[in-house]
Amino acid sequence: MNRTTPNLDEVVRDIAAEMRARTDRGEVATYIPELARADANAFGIAVIDSDGHVAVGGDSETPFSIQSISKVFTLTLALGMVGDRLWRRVGREPSGSPFNSIVQLEREHGIPRNPFINAGAIAVTDLILSRHQPREALGEILRFMQFLAQDTSIIIDEEVAASELRTGFRNIALANYMKSFGVIDNPVDFTLGVYFHHCAIAMSCRQLAMAGRFLAHSGRNPTTGLSVVQPERALRINAVMLTCGHYDGSGEFAYRVGLPGKSGVGGGILAIAPGRASIAVWSPGLDAAGNSHLGRIALELLTKRMGWSIFAG
Ligand code: GLN
Repeated sequence: MNRTTPNLDEVVRDIAAEMRARTDRGEVATYIPELARADANAFGIAVIDSDGHVAVGGDSETPFSIQSISKVFTLTLALGMVGDRLWRRVGREPSGSPFNSIVQLEREHGIPRNPFINAGAIAVTDLILSRHQPREALGEILRFMQFLAQDTSIIIDEEVAASELRTGFRNIALANYMKSFGVIDNPVDFTLGVYFHHCAIAMSCRQLAMAGRFLAHSGRNPTTGLSVVQPERALRINAVMLTCGHYDGSGEFAYRVGLPGKSGVGGGILAIAPGRASIAVWSPGLDAAGNSHLGRIALELLTKRMGWSIFAG
């Protein structure tokens, strides 16, 4: 039991210092060649509480490739466009498989298990694309990120997108396979072009934590008062993040951290402490499931020290 309320700034600063000193840093992703250039020694954290206070540590202002974290925002956009009809295309069960797995798709008739594995995210991107040309769809996703983060300087890293386009054979296979079941409406290369580009959005921890605030506060940004989604939708997105946001590492993340979270192979994690804070961490070294190694450890320390696990009474 904490006798005094822990000071968020101090907790965040301590965690950044502890993470900087650690030598176990995981492995930087190399299957997208451009990501291999990331600095394995980088670590950043940004936490924004309900009053809008921002606590930062380490490389919190350095932009990194958000990769699969973008899937939270494309899911939000697609739900806004097609509503719960989305769940006819994509399930909402944990997959228990790696993020780029193809095995379940055959048994489950091309319907991906959830919107956060690659197959599911590609199907969600396809829904967004159906209303637009690829360039417009991408513009809409980018503008949504800029609006949420209140920052128009956020860009897509074209080098990362081109790098993934050249080497994304697995995703190309997933998309074609789903197309054969009628789960993808648009030309596969259009859908994948948009998918690779939204994964290549570059953001800092501070920008990402800002973008996630609506999920921590019942669908609206408590500072601007602007509503992004209805409260019910926000809590459901959080539920899918908790159960599926870390692929086959989702159980371990819930056990250790106790927050909804979404990882990306760029080493970022967005985590949501409902009613309390939006949190972004970044460290490029990954664990075996493709989730940031130090990012997860930092979040575990944060929730423990702040008493923020959603499972705490
Ligand atoms: N763009 C990456 C891919 O499709 C995203 C994967 C991830 O971040 N887990 O492989």
